[in-house]
Amino acid sequence: MSVAVKESRFSFKTRNKLLLISFDGFRWDYDRDVETPNLDKMAQDGVKALYATPAFLTITSPSHFTMLTGRYIENHGVIHNMWFNTATQEKKQYYMTQFVSSYWDNGSLPIWITAQRQGLKAGSLHFPGTAATYRGENVTVKQVEPHFYDHSNETDWRLNINKVIGEWFHQQDLDFVSLYFGEPDLVGHKYGPDSPERQEMVRQVDRTVGYIRNKIQDHGLTDRLNIIITADHGMTTVLRGGLVEEIILSKIPGFSFTDIQFQLLDYGPLGMLLPKEGMLEKVYQALKGSHPHLHVYKKEEMPTRLHYSKHPRLLPIILITDPGYIVNGLLPLNFNNGEHGYDNEVMDMKAFFRAVGPDFQSNLTVDPFDLVDLYPLMCHLLGINPEIHDGHLDKSKDMLVPQTTIGGDNNDPGKNIHIEVPIGLSAAMGFLVLVFIIITAYHMRKRTKA
Ligand SMILES: [Zn+2]
Repeated sequence: MSVAVKESRFSFKTRNKLLLISFDGFRWDYDRDVETPNLDKMAQDGVKALYATPAFLTITSPSHFTMLTGRYIENHGVIHNMWFNTATQEKKQYYMTQFVSSYWDNGSLPIWITAQRQGLKAGSLHFPGTAATYRGENVTVKQVEPHFYDHSNETDWRLNINKVIGEWFHQQDLDFVSLYFGEPDLVGHKYGPDSPERQEMVRQVDRTVGYIRNKIQDHGLTDRLNIIITADHGMTTVLRGGLVEEIILSKIPGFSFTDIQFQLLDYGPLGMLLPKEGMLEKVYQALKGSHPHLHVYKKEEMPTRLHYSKHPRLLPIILITDPGYIVNGLLPLNFNNGEHGYDNEVMDMKAFFRAVGPDFQSNLTVDPFDLVDLYPLMCHLLGINPEIHDGHLDKSKDMLVPQTTIGGDNNDPGKNIHIEVPIGLSAAMGFLVLVFIIITAYHMRKRTKA
């Protein structure tokens, strides 16, 4: 006698919580010249990728918004750290731009809002994009840093961690939180990526990772909380001191600021220009080939792999320098020793990546992947249907334990079919099968006897 049991795809998983942490400017290899016991332990207990490739432009607000939306920068529209208006000449720096909702809310919903719409509870602390409103909705639980906040203070870091782990995850039972730290970006800019100050800051990051994991343990969340630690971009040393010929637009023959209606310059390796009417070709021809380390593009000529040409906010002429160089306007104004914003194929622009938790494999190193692929991974972990995005779950899925079927293959929004049979139900089914076998066997035996 045989009992045919119909095969089905059981999932015994419940949804685990997720903490996304970004350490601004934590380059992929910053753990190589510093002792990092806590990051090493995290890699042993979880997953590390050799590196993650940020979307271009490799700067803070655009890259973080790619993490939150899974969209390339030309698609989500947060094209720069600075808001600007080419008609009025007005510019807002990074911090004030955080509060301009119309700059962030271009139709790409950040994961907090999507999670909330699907019944989850989300929070965000200091993460770029937190202050804005999206289609009239906010991330419900949030903390935005005050103006002139000290982003380097380790005591503050711990208070923020206590809030996220103790209050938000433990007491308020949030499902997803994004948490941002402004270092080691600041020391990287000021002292350069090879400096002892940067190494000391990596030790601070490492202590902080140990502190976070201990807090999670103290609150009994270790088996219910996945942690992802990554960064928005890397950092490279700026070449100066007479070693190189600096790029100063005002000194380029044939180029004149009188031909320019609006400029975004003196902001690291990227410059953008809006020439006055009829002057585009003249400006372009003057700049093209003017310096061996300056790449000059008409917006529509940008290499497609950079995904930085389609958005209407991008200006008609885009300038990108080689690593180590920066675009100066009238005269050099940038005195940083480290910069980012370069081509995302430059190894120094690659970001750090680690993950640990109940849904991640342990002691596994995975291939590099793109930061646009982080969004479908996070939606999968949270069991929510993603919005339209540019990432691929199959590129990041290998880091998960195989039975994780919470969200299905969710690269295709709206086509998310998955079967979840609760453990109680499958146990009951097994019991019924057993009862059936016993009863049948009993009757057959009775019949044989008779
Ligand atoms: Zn940054």
